[in-house]
Amino acid sequence: MKYKANNFIIDGLKAEKIAKKYHTPLYCYSYKDLKKNIDNFKNSFKNVDPIICFSVKSNSNKFLLKEIGKLGLGADVVSIGELMRSLKSGIKPNKIVFSGVGKTTNEISYAINQKILLINTESRSEILEIEKIAKLKKKIVNIGIRLNPNTDANTLSQISTGKKENKFGVSKKTFLDLVNYVKNSKNLRLKCLSVHIGSQILENRPYEKMLKVIEKIIKKSKFRFEYIDLGGGMGIDYEKKNKHYNFKKYSLSIKKFVKKFNSKIIFEPGRSIIGSSGILISKVIYVKEGYKKDFVILDAAMNDLMRPALYNAKHIILPVKKNNKKSKKIYEFVGPICESTDKFSTIKKFQKLNKKDLIIICDVGAYGMSLSSNYNLRPKIAEVIIKNSKIRVISKRQSINNLM
Ligand SMILES: *Cc1c(COP(=O)(O)O)cnc(C)c1O
Repeated sequence: MKYKANNFIIDGLKAEKIAKKYHTPLYCYSYKDLKKNIDNFKNSFKNVDPIICFSVKSNSNKFLLKEIGKLGLGADVVSIGELMRSLKSGIKPNKIVFSGVGKTTNEISYAINQKILLINTESRSEILEIEKIAKLKKKIVNIGIRLNPNTDANTLSQISTGKKENKFGVSKKTFLDLVNYVKNSKNLRLKCLSVHIGSQILENRPYEKMLKVIEKIIKKSKFRFEYIDLGGGMGIDYEKKNKHYNFKKYSLSIKKFVKKFNSKIIFEPGRSIIGSSGILISKVIYVKEGYKKDFVILDAAMNDLMRPALYNAKHIILPVKKNNKKSKKIYEFVGPICESTDKFSTIKKFQKLNKKDLIIICDVGAYGMSLSSNYNLRPKIAEVIIKNSKIRVISKRQSINNLM
């Protein structure tokens, strides 16, 4: 993605042309970038030869899941819907892990029937429920136990999951108790220790700390785990400050760790796989003067891309066509929804914008479309992908009639 003669180009195609043909707002993905991210992830961790399970909640588009599966990844799912869609997309059950704090009886039963790789459990009551269902089905079920390592991921508090005040995983004491319990169960087979300390992590330190905690607890448990699931969370460079997550450094630490315990590593990356490969193209409906700034009212809103409203997340905004005329006003980019949090960014010295101009919101491949809703009865927007210089619609724009 770059500019050529002042035009924003994605994989050789003009964003302006794409917008004209498929209308706005529009999610647009680059297959090239997706593949690049997957290759980069695989290469960085080559020395530990992990099972890589794509976190489906970051983007659950059917076409993308199929492509991601074809590129060799498995799936990390958090609901029966995501599990069914992953299977339907051709991802093999032995490459699927099921995470989440509240799996229902129905979800557990379905997962057992499908013989997935692991159900990663997060509480004593959930383990008892799985055991009960397994007993009724006369089956032995492979499970993992998710540890809450009480490590600060040093990320946005809303996407931190590994501190003791977070609902995820079990405490160290409970973990050890549960290892003993499951060891003696006839219908459960303990296979995995899992963790996931949060998302958009850009430093190595939190992961290093987490590895130390895991090391200690494995030694204490005196149990050999066939799998260690280290979760996802590797951050991406949203603000283009050249702050990339250092995969190589992490892989060296993991390599050392693996040597001690001889376990197979599982990863559950979402954002680092799909985040940078998607943009949102949107059109300016109006530019409106405020007291101290101008509001650029876009046709995209928080229901299409919720991250800024939900987490105060930052996404770079760029013009589709550069005009080299700086605006004297501060611009606040907002959507048309009746909520004050329906805003994307406030930018000084953006180029002068007018009605009908097109802009791009960057790095929205992860937690963009998957977090979208019909709030304000707005139809879900379309998704397209560019693959081998061809565009294809991978999810149609909902019509108003769909909603009536
Ligand atoms: C959300 C989630 C992930 C993916 O996190 P990313 O930051 O997108 O890599 C992985 N594992 C679990 C259990 C999750 O909840």
